[in-house]
This record gives sequence, structure tokens and C-alpha cells, in this order.
Amino acid sequence: MSSGGGIVPSRKPAGWGNSSACQKRRTLKAVGLKGTCGRAIVVASAVLGALPAGFAQSAGLTVTIAARTIQPGELVVLSVSAPSTTQSLRVRVFDRPIAAFKAEEGVWRALVGIDLEQRPGHYVALIDANGPSGPLHLETDLDVRPRTFPTRKLQVPPGFVNPPADALARIQKDTAFLRDVYGHSSSDRLWSEPFVRPVPGEANSRFGTRSVFNGVPRSPHAGTDFLSPAGTPIKAPNAGRIVAARDLYFLGETVIIDHGLGMFSVLGHLSRIDVEEGMTVAPGTQLGLVGATGRVTGAHLHWALSVAGARVDPLSALELLAK
Ligand SMILES: [Zn+2]
Repeated sequence: MSSGGGIVPSRKPAGWGNSSACQKRRTLKAVGLKGTCGRAIVVASAVLGALPAGFAQSAGLTVTIAARTIQPGELVVLSVSAPSTTQSLRVRVFDRPIAAFKAEEGVWRALVGIDLEQRPGHYVALIDANGPSGPLHLETDLDVRPRTFPTRKLQVPPGFVNPPADALARIQKDTAFLRDVYGHSSSDRLWSEPFVRPVPGEANSRFGTRSVFNGVPRSPHAGTDFLSPAGTPIKAPNAGRIVAARDLYFLGETVIIDHGLGMFSVLGHLSRIDVEEGMTVAPGTQLGLVGATGRVTGAHLHWALSVAGARVDPLSALELLAK
């Protein structure tokens, strides 16, 4: 996963100006998800009773979808009400399996990431449950609307745009390491508490921004940048296992947390790391200090969130999975 660099951007509001669904807020509360009137929250539900005849095997499954908006780079939370006897539940969307977990009695949840480069269009989430009374199946639409990410042009030291020959082996080693890390997420959900902000500073880099470094287009910015001064303590956004606590060429001093079930937090450009690989952390555990290591023009925290391989804006998780 490319960080796209951690350049300190201009101060602008996040720009999430989508239509909100205040009237549907009660539905969100009913499934235990955070919904703030005035912010972009989309709720849709597919209830068996609304489906045509012939779907009798779906009896008993209801799905509720919560998201800020259904667009590239967003987290989508599927909450499925299923009979209490349900033993397993599987979700499949974007041609890949999404791990589901039992959130409470009769409610299963799946975190679906819409990758920031996902092609807009009509998709269907397939939900399959198994229990003593046989299989249950439900399908729900996921219409991904187009989204235009801004482009920013920046000047950085030349070595970071076209890395010197002696850095290539280092970059390849980092790439192999990260591929290995992302390929081995815990099969257990390691978090259960709400997500917390890693630093108090404002997040001001627009996630997904296409960067042009010294006139050369680079991969989109896959994280959110928080403008906190150097030396600010960084908290773990949620519980998990530390799978990286080391210096990487582009991200600098980096901590990666495996939250389990394919979800990872990447925190980059630290000046100091206070955790070790293999440790488990709780939400709020101090990971290190804000710095300016790696490909940056100034001190800030870069936080990226990967959900089953999809690069999503961590702010969407903060909003949907907060208290
Ligand atoms: Zn960044």
C-alpha cells in the first residue's frame, strides 16, 4: 500500500458535503451505530418482506447499511439481523469475501471497504447465513457513486520522486515486508471498543488526493494527515497487535496495527516509536511521537486504514465506529 507521501497540505475543510439523512438517524441508533444529523450518513435496508416471492430461504435476515456516503474510499458497515441460532454468516462484495463477526445476540456485522480506486457502479452484497434450520441468503444493492479527488502539486527533494539507485533495494525490501504483513491478519477480531482519534490535531489532508511530485504523477494519498506538532503523543486508534514498528523509506518511522479480520492501521512519519513488534495494544496506548521522518515536508501524522485490502479514509471509521 502506497502512502502517497505525507506532505503537509494546505488548511482546508475535509469537504464532505454530501446529503445527510437525518430522518434515518433513528435506524442507525437502533443498530447501535453512530449517526450525526448534518453529516453524511446513508442508510438503506433490504428486508425480506420487500423482496419478490421465491426468496423464502431468506426468511429471517435483515440488513442495514451505514456509511457517510457510498463512494470510493469509504467504510460501509453492514449490520445483519439473523436468527439467534445462526452459527456462521458470510458476506461477499466486490468479488471478495468480507469477514463478518457476531456483534451481539442476533446481530452480525461486516466492515466493507470501498477502495479509493474502486470503479463506481452497481454492486451487490451477498449475505449467507447458516444455522440449524438450514441456509439463509440475502442480497442488497451497493451503488457506488463517482467521486472526484483533488490533485495537488508539490515540490519535494528529488530523491523521493526518483529514488536514488542505492535506495531501490531498500524500497523493494519494504514492499515485500508490507505485502507479508497484509497477508497475515489475525483470523480473530482484535478490537471491540470504539475507534479513537490518534492525535488531537485537525485532519486536513483530503484523503485520496492525487499528488504530482515535482511534475511527476504519483499514487493517490491513501491516508489522512493530522496536523499535530512534532512531539505530540500518538494513541493507538484501536486495539490490535503491532505487526510493524520500524523505519520505512517513504513512511519513515512507522507503526502498523493488525486489528484482525483483515483490518490494519498504518501510522507514519513518527519521530519516535514506543512499541515493539509482537505487542498487543489497547485503544489509546501510546505508540510514539509525531515527527517528520520519511517523505514529508513537515511534521504531521499520516494514518491509513486498510480493510480487507481496500484503502479507506480512517475518518469514516472514526465516524461510524466511534462512541
Ligand atoms: Zn499522509
